[in-house]
Formats: sequence, structure tokens, C-alpha cells
Amino acid sequence: MPDLTPPAPPQERRLVTAIPGPRSLELQARKEAAVSGGIGVMLPVYAVAAGGGVLVDVDGNSLIDLGSGIAVTTVGNAHPRVAAAVARQVAAFTHTCFMVTPYDGYVEVCEALNRLTPGEHAKRSALFNSGAEAVENAVKIARHATGRDAVVVFDHAYHGRTNLTMAMTAKNMPYKDGFGPFAAEVYRAPMSYPFRDGCDGATAAARAIDVIDKQVGAANLAAVVIEPIQGEGGFVVPADGFLPALAAWCRANGVLFVADEVQTGFARTGELFACDHEGVVPDLIVTAKGIAGGLPLAAVTGRAELMDAPHAGGLGGTYGGNPVACAAALAVVEAIETEDLVARAAGIGARLTARLTALQARDPRIGDVRGRGAMIAVELVRPGTLEPDADLAKRVATAAHAQGLIVLTCGTWGNVLRFLPPLSISDALLDEGFDVLEEIFASLA
Ligand SMILES: *Cc1c(COP(=O)(O)O)cnc(C)c1O
Repeated sequence: MPDLTPPAPPQERRLVTAIPGPRSLELQARKEAAVSGGIGVMLPVYAVAAGGGVLVDVDGNSLIDLGSGIAVTTVGNAHPRVAAAVARQVAAFTHTCFMVTPYDGYVEVCEALNRLTPGEHAKRSALFNSGAEAVENAVKIARHATGRDAVVVFDHAYHGRTNLTMAMTAKNMPYKDGFGPFAAEVYRAPMSYPFRDGCDGATAAARAIDVIDKQVGAANLAAVVIEPIQGEGGFVVPADGFLPALAAWCRANGVLFVADEVQTGFARTGELFACDHEGVVPDLIVTAKGIAGGLPLAAVTGRAELMDAPHAGGLGGTYGGNPVACAAALAVVEAIETEDLVARAAGIGARLTARLTALQARDPRIGDVRGRGAMIAVELVRPGTLEPDADLAKRVATAAHAQGLIVLTCGTWGNVLRFLPPLSISDALLDEGFDVLEEIFASLA
């Protein structure tokens, strides 16, 4: 088998046209004529190559990647190990449907998930195509296993765009507006949001549990579904103790504790999974994004007796656990383990946090610096208040894009800048990127 891996693009920020350049603008005009207006684009720079810490566009610009395609290319884009595994698998066979005639890659990915996810108990996994699909299946499994209907989610939650996951997602615009009616039996509890509520974890957990107990009732509740660090909602890290208290209450009440680690999983936060930071062991854990280096794959992993509760044929799908995606996932696990990427994520987190807290000390518009590992954000406010400054976040992001940085925003109020660099990025590129960001903050004074 020839090595089909293209060489990684030069690791540099290089701007040869305006951003977006003329070729990107041409493609964007075609996009507008051909692609549904419902599919938005944050930065219309059309990619031709990506790897390490950069993305190269059709005009020859090279941008520093601080987004990883929303926490997906965690091991690096077109990682050589992933590219080789995918090429091998594509040449062997591309699909059989695991439910018709199975293959070992699917089983091996489930074995890896069972081994790597939190907890030493007997586990099983099931594979799907997207984060939303996997969240839906976690709810199906929880309902089947408990015989209960209700599901509790949290303020600022994001769980996807399908009908059930829209109901579970908190934010109206752009995710829900005009797309109802939404699925029933989904209830929302207050999140722990230390920057805004000033509560410790125990207090915030008591507040959430009181709402759940009084408004839903434990006996009706199948599952509590929570992102251990919220993603789209603003990289909200709950106060220490919040997740363990919630998990303990779930256990005491026969309610399943379901961790949506779609964004936080697979080394992103400086642990393999964000639940590991506090030793929380979920009954079910949902993974996707970083799992397969850019190929579409998602999973639900959990206690064997829960995962085995549904009847054969009750779970699945035509493409779930596609062999090419499974080959990529196995290569991702190898890359994480052989390249010590968990430690790399922690190192990136320390580096970014140090820089951003130094910037915060000089710039009162940065109300909060938070996150773990290579999942770090700043929340922008009017100085001295908690009033969100979405306009500033937008201006910083726009200026960053123009200068060749791929930076994303998030948060219920759109006032959070989030940083999700691939773990393959060099310190030099990271430093350059944050030098540019510091200049932008100074220039927008
Ligand atoms: C992205 C995301 C999802 C949805 O994943 P898709 O693959 O886009 O369907 C669900 N939960 C969280 C926490 C996410 O970040």
C-alpha cells in the first residue's frame, strides 16, 4: 500500500490575500446559490489542506487553527496515522452494515471505549454517526432500562439539532427558533455557573436537585444528561463538587447519570474524559467529535446491564460504526496513547490560561478565563459588571479571522471566545496566535 498521506502544510501563518480571498469569495457565491440558507458559515475561507496547527485555503493563505473544526481534529487534521488507517480500510471494504455482516473494527472500537471511559464496571458500547444521534440513543437506552420517561437537562446545554436534542438544547436562536414543536418529557434545571452565580458546587447542586425533585420527581426520571464542561453554552465549568453531588443523587434515586462528552472527550480537557477530573463515573457516556479524527462517528458507552436492556434491533442504523470511521477511531486512540496527547492538552491549557489571565489583569472586559486543557475560553463583559458584551466578542473574532486566526465564539449571550486548538499545534504557533489576539484586544480599546 503506497503512503497516501499528503505532507503536512508548512507550520506558519501566511496571508497572501485578504481574508476571505477572491477564490474563497467565488466559492462562497456558489455556496449561496447551491446550499440551503439554513447552513450558516462562520468564516467563508475554503480549505484545501490542514494539519499540525494550520489550515490552508484555496487562495494560498495559511491560518492558525484554534478551532479544530469544533473540537473534532483533536489529534490533528489528516493525522498521518488516521490517514493511513482510513486509506487501508477504504481499499479493503467501505461498508457492509454491522447489523447485517459485522467486522472487527466495530468490536475493537467498542472494546477501546469500554476500556478507556471512566469506571471499572462491565461495559458495552454502541456506535452511531453523530453526537446528536448518540445523545438520542442514550435517552432511548435510559428510558428502556429504567421504564421511566422524564429527562433532565440544564440551562445553557447543547445536545444537538435533531428533534429530541433540540428539546434538550437550551438556546433558542439559532438552534430551535421556528423548528418546534419539541419532544415531550424534557425538563431543565439550573446549571452551576460560578462566574455568574457565585455558588460553590454543593450549593449549586442542591439548587438543581430541588428543582428536579419538586418539578419532575425522581420516580419519573430516567436520566440526568449533562455536559461536564458545557461546549456551545460557553465553556461553563461547573464549580467543584457539583457533578459528584449530582451523580450521587442520581445513584441514590435510581436515575441514570449521563455525561454528554461529545465536545469534552478524547483528551481534549487534559484528561481522557472531563468526568475524570473529579472522578465522576457516569452510567452512560456519549462521545463523538474527537473520537475519529474528523470521520463521522459517535458512541454510547455504559453499564453492561443498561446497554443490554434494549431488545436486539432496537438500536442501530445503516451507517453506525462505519468501518472507515472505526479504522480512524482506532488510529486516534493509538495517537493519543503513543503521543501522550492527554499531557499535551494539559500543557496547552496551562500555557493559554497563563497568557489569558495575564491579559485579563490588564483588560477588565475579560470577565472570566475558564476551561480545562485545550478547551479554554474568555467571557467578555462590560467592565465591572456581568453584562455580556457580545459585540466585543464579534469584533475580536472578526479581527482575528482577518489576521489569519480561526477563532470561534459561543455562549448563551454570544459573548464568549473559545479556543480549541488541535493537540498537534506547536507552541510557536500558539504563541503567535495569542500575540495577535493580544494586539487585537489592545487595538479595540
Ligand atoms: C456538538 C455537540 C453535540 C452534537 O453533535 P453532532 O455531531 O453535531 O450531532 C452534542 N453534544 C455536545 C456537547 C456537542 O458539543
